[in-house]
Amino acid sequence: MDQLDCVVIGAGVVGLAVARALALQGREVMVLEALDAIGTGTSSRNSEVIHAGIYYPQGSLKARLCVEGKELLYNYCAARGIGHRRCGKLIVATSDAQVAQLQGIIDKAAANGVRDLALLTREQARALEPQLQCVAAVHSPSTGIVDSHALMLSLQGDLENAGGFVVLNSPLAQAECAQGAITLIAKDGTQLQARSVVNSAGLHAQALARRFVGLAAHFVPPSYFAKGNYFTLSGRSPFARLIYPVPEAAGLGVHLTIDLGGQAKFGPDVQWVSSPDDLQVDPARGNAFYAEVRKYWPGLHDGALTPGYAGIRPKIQAPGEATRDFLIQGQAEHGVPGLVNLFGIESPGLTSALAIGEYVRRLL
Ligand SMILES: Cc1cc2nc3c(=O)[nH]c(=O)nc-3n(C[C@H](O)[C@H](O)[C@H](O)COP(=O)(O)OP(=O)(O)OC[C@H]3O[C@@H](n4cnc5c(N)ncnc54)[C@H](O)[C@@H]3O)c2cc1C
Repeated sequence: MDQLDCVVIGAGVVGLAVARALALQGREVMVLEALDAIGTGTSSRNSEVIHAGIYYPQGSLKARLCVEGKELLYNYCAARGIGHRRCGKLIVATSDAQVAQLQGIIDKAAANGVRDLALLTREQARALEPQLQCVAAVHSPSTGIVDSHALMLSLQGDLENAGGFVVLNSPLAQAECAQGAITLIAKDGTQLQARSVVNSAGLHAQALARRFVGLAAHFVPPSYFAKGNYFTLSGRSPFARLIYPVPEAAGLGVHLTIDLGGQAKFGPDVQWVSSPDDLQVDPARGNAFYAEVRKYWPGLHDGALTPGYAGIRPKIQAPGEATRDFLIQGQAEHGVPGLVNLFGIESPGLTSALAIGEYVRRLL
């Protein structure tokens, strides 16, 4: 049986960042990817926003890894020539009742070390974005956008330059955890042994972990899938910055993001689904977008939105339950030497990827 030092399961942005961090430390690393290309899962079905680290509870992994990851990501993109723009974002209150929440957002961000937010009056916000309708807004200058695919290609390049490699079309079926080594069994029956294994299988991480013999079942959280649908705007973006409503329970509200080509899209909404493969966008959901968007952009014309794409948030809490933190478990949590499981790596997972890579490297 082949023996390897480290195997990372899943070539999304997080798996690649973890693999890169381990390879740069001098470890032998292989990434196993089920599909025929890197980054075709959630990592290519998101808003491509570099989040500032505003909304997450103080001290949470989401808060710490987002703030740390943001700086790492801006520096990495600049050093490698990866497309990105620090365009900033406005969080807009569209009713008097929401204005009170804005100061809370500023305070929460400050507790996370994000101290560059500014409260704007309606006039100040409209001076930045003349088409915006709001009562007041918060400006976040360190929010940005990134070309996520170029980022993943660069991470893969670093991994390969450091001697690591990605193996495509190789779904892992199960594993057997024993003292000192973990035996991995691919769907085609191939077996290999690794000293360290990182389960970074995104939406499938829990289903996979349940097939790890030797890992107690109670360490694997349940899986829930919250689909986020996007609708694209025909024509030029009316805004130069990202525009977000005050956040709601399971997501950040129907916001406007722009990509590096200047195309604007609205979303993602929140639609709980039962399958991680349910990626069709129901055009009828666009009807609800018009009302939500017109709260902050009354200039939206009928028929201007077309169904775009959808991504699915890997949730570890049921609909209606409080949002949970990233769940990153090493030996100290589950007792299995050499195994790290990454569960619930939803937003801000893209922003946090480089910091998660460092975190997992330290755990191992
Ligand atoms: C709608 C939406 C919007 C988002 N917007 C943002 C944003 O703007 N900014 C931000 O920071 N974050 C955002 N996120 C979060 C971010 O996209 C994710 O946190 C990140 O992409 C997760 O990366 P990953 O590598 O963990 O998972 P994935 O990209 O899903 O990668 C997992 C990989 O594992 C592979 N795999 C699965 N099972 C197996 C197996 N058995 N064997 C081998 N391989 C396997 C899959 O094929 C896949 O390639 C958003 C998420 C969603 C859903």
